[in-house]
Amino acid sequence: MKPLIVANWKMNPISRKQAEHLFESIRKEICGIQNIEVILCPPFIYLDFISKKTSKDIKLGGQNIFWDRQGPYTGEISPQMLKDIGCDYVILGHSERRKNFKETDEIINKKIKAVLKSRLKIILCVGEESRNSFNKDGRWTGEVDLVLREQVLRCLEDIDESQMANIIIAYEPVWAISTTENSCVAVPDDALSASLLIRKTMHQKYNEKIARSLRILYGGSVDSKNVIDFMKEDGIDGVLVGGAGINSSEFTRLVKAVSGQYLSAEQKTVISRF
Ligand code: PEP
Repeated sequence: MKPLIVANWKMNPISRKQAEHLFESIRKEICGIQNIEVILCPPFIYLDFISKKTSKDIKLGGQNIFWDRQGPYTGEISPQMLKDIGCDYVILGHSERRKNFKETDEIINKKIKAVLKSRLKIILCVGEESRNSFNKDGRWTGEVDLVLREQVLRCLEDIDESQMANIIIAYEPVWAISTTENSCVAVPDDALSASLLIRKTMHQKYNEKIARSLRILYGGSVDSKNVIDFMKEDGIDGVLVGGAGINSSEFTRLVKAVSGQYLSAEQKTVISRF
């Protein structure tokens, strides 16, 4: 499976002109890169024109959806609408939605079930809020394990094995997200421990095949300088970026760093000839 890089633009940029510029600068730079999967998740309002300009190298995703397909839900967007406009993915359970819109694991579970009927793939975000669950020696105390395990199990309640091929889990410790007050940078070991815990939970809930094949991303202050450190970890299949995704030069540097890292020896030889 190709490594995955997801850029969540959140509520940025402020105008369509800037969104066009951001998209075009990214597209121009990463066009032709085929050994990784790049997914951009702009605000809903920019999806239409971006989907008309995007190429097969860049996939699109939404940042949220409602749990019904159509009807009296003022201000909401359905999974079928996202699919219709050209999206292949949707982010669910981002910590900003959990915090600002009181999205619970139960609500996220309802949304997951709705999305699974629409042929979109889900990027499910989970992650603990505080790093206090580390003791003073910096070791995980187990409390985080409990929070993470419960989030994963509640969000995936009644989701059966056959549906798991459409779900990707993004581990995003809230304390490491760049916009969190007093955020601190996580180390690759944090991401690896969480990924092992998530895979163990999947093994217990489903089986070894699901635990191994599940794609797990890391998110939290990832940039072009640290991305390879996170991606080097065996259990990490990609990254979800916020800040780095709305700066075209930083994002393209990040994509190229990962792409370079994952080139096969044969591809590297071909490139070194030029
Ligand atoms: C995020 O908010 O999901 C995120 C990963 O943001 P950042 O990369 O800016 O920390």
